[in-house]
Amino acid sequence: MSGVLLGPVVVIGLGGLGAPIAMALAKSNIAAIRLVDGDTVEKSNLHRQVLFTAADVHAPKARVVAEAMRRLGFEGVIEVAERFFVPEEALEIARDASMLIEGVDNLPCKFLVADVAALLRVPVVHSAAIRWEGTVLAKPPGGACYRCLFEDIPHGSEAPNCAGEGVAGPLVGVVGAWAADRLLALREGALEATELARFDGWAGAVRRTLVRPRENCALCALYAAGSSFPIDRTRYAPPLT
Ligand SMILES: [Zn+2]
Repeated sequence: MSGVLLGPVVVIGLGGLGAPIAMALAKSNIAAIRLVDGDTVEKSNLHRQVLFTAADVHAPKARVVAEAMRRLGFEGVIEVAERFFVPEEALEIARDASMLIEGVDNLPCKFLVADVAALLRVPVVHSAAIRWEGTVLAKPPGGACYRCLFEDIPHGSEAPNCAGEGVAGPLVGVVGAWAADRLLALREGALEATELARFDGWAGAVRRTLVRPRENCALCALYAAGSSFPIDRTRYAPPLT
């Protein structure tokens, strides 16, 4: 594998999905991991974010997750970034990443992660879980991107803050573990095309499909041309109408 893979795996959002992602990665041989979340543990998180206990209330999520990874025996380097992945700071936070993986519940932030991955030309895993449904999108270099599927920020979105909120139920554990597994598959070069997995937690079913790049995807066009573009807040502002 090329030297670029020596940089840290950057985990963005450490809530309902990010925490199980980090737990699954604790059992891997990843050399370095950067845990990114500017949030602290709230009392209201406890019932739905299994990793956090009452003793963690008011502690930074990134630090609590780092300690939990150590307890599980993770032997690599852990960097704690108590910061939100916002447009002004995203490139700096992800600078030397070898791969990105996100479990944020905020759509503009997902687009931001997709754009940063394209700029850095690194593989990325997106994960989401809402009620009984989950999705994991794993993108190797050159594969279809998040904007191939979802194009742009939907109406009615909130401004990006990238706190990792959660949803109730065991689905987040399954989706988080799957996302971590796909990250390791990407690292091994096992995925040649972008893979989308959809989880139906009600039926207990998983459906995997390969996603082809969308012909008019603006981000893929920039990626193919090797172009750069500014990461500024207007790019992630939801449409006003
Ligand atoms: Zn695309």
